[in-house]
Amino acid sequence: MREGINLLESASPVMVSEMARQCWEDMQPGQSIVIVAHRSPDGDAVGAALGLHHHLKAMGIATNVVLPDRFPAFLDWMPGADGICFYEEETAAAAQLLDAADIIWCLDFNGLDRVGKMEDALRNARGQKWVVDHHQMPDAFADRLLSDPACGSTCELLVDLIAGWGQSDFLSNEAMACLYVGIMTDTGSFRFPSVTAHTHAVLAHFLSRGLGHAAIHQNTFDEQSLNRVQLQGFAMSERLHVFSEYGLAVVAIERGDLDRFHYESGDTEGLVNKVLGLAGVRVAIMAREAEPGLIKLSLRSVGDFSVRDLAAAEFDGGGHKNAAGGIVKGKTIPEFIAFVNTRLSDWIDVS
Ligand code: 5GP
Ligand code: MN
Repeated sequence: MREGINLLESASPVMVSEMARQCWEDMQPGQSIVIVAHRSPDGDAVGAALGLHHHLKAMGIATNVVLPDRFPAFLDWMPGADGICFYEEETAAAAQLLDAADIIWCLDFNGLDRVGKMEDALRNARGQKWVVDHHQMPDAFADRLLSDPACGSTCELLVDLIAGWGQSDFLSNEAMACLYVGIMTDTGSFRFPSVTAHTHAVLAHFLSRGLGHAAIHQNTFDEQSLNRVQLQGFAMSERLHVFSEYGLAVVAIERGDLDRFHYESGDTEGLVNKVLGLAGVRVAIMAREAEPGLIKLSLRSVGDFSVRDLAAAEFDGGGHKNAAGGIVKGKTIPEFIAFVNTRLSDWIDVS
């Protein structure tokens, strides 16, 4: 049992303790340490980056958080969010931080192609790359790697790492709030099959240390703008395509729809899960026309159907078996829907 948390063993205790020992020993005073996560950062990416930042700060280790681009507005409340440097907005400053770093913690991504325009700057950075991640089959870019695809979130893995440092009783409120957000969002509020007794042991530890979980749910999910609520309602009412014989449904939003409801990053978050919530739907796709000729996809499934495989095969993407992302180039939304129609029987066997 690990110090501080009454944790049932994590999925890969040997890997965690080895990674923990090496990393703690090698973080020295005076070093420059940067924390990065994937592009279009979600709750797990931001939560992991800020959670580690707050924890190391409490332990006397300063770090800078650099993200490729901005995260959804519903995460703006997170402690430390205003101190993040965004590569797309402050490219020179971000590049300089990456350049000067001795250590770069790479959180919640499994390949350098997951950091968007920051890819070359990260690849060429001379610092050690220490990766903590839960996506399948990480590319070989890590100098150190803690990877557990069975784990529901990178934040949960980070808690194991911190427990491996013997510091779980030193987790600050800020650190716990951020790590909680990552666990909460990547597990669909603790409901996906990836949730284990260990996940709940981590949450119990946070609550026993005084974390106010109700405010975290409220801040994240119950402060939605009118535009966002109306965009999602409009999309479900007017832009939903249900292919019931295949158990597949697509909600497809055009540029004009986004403009009409003054779309801001994150406004379509959660929509794909609502589509998946339809009776009989086993595969859900949310398509958003990000710019003319570029559609971004979020894919979700229940059960054995792998949206990761579908995203990798058809949409230049990837992710997890039941949650993946990808892109479509050179098609309008109606053309994309027509394409789905022609491919359905290849994707899903209904015989
Ligand atoms: P979301 O639909 O929430 O944007 O993404 C769901 C999952 O798919 C996340 O785990 C995310 O990391 C992954 N994902 C999203 N977009 C891409 C992509 O373009 N490439 C890969 N490899 N994974 C993606
Ligand atoms: Mn994640």
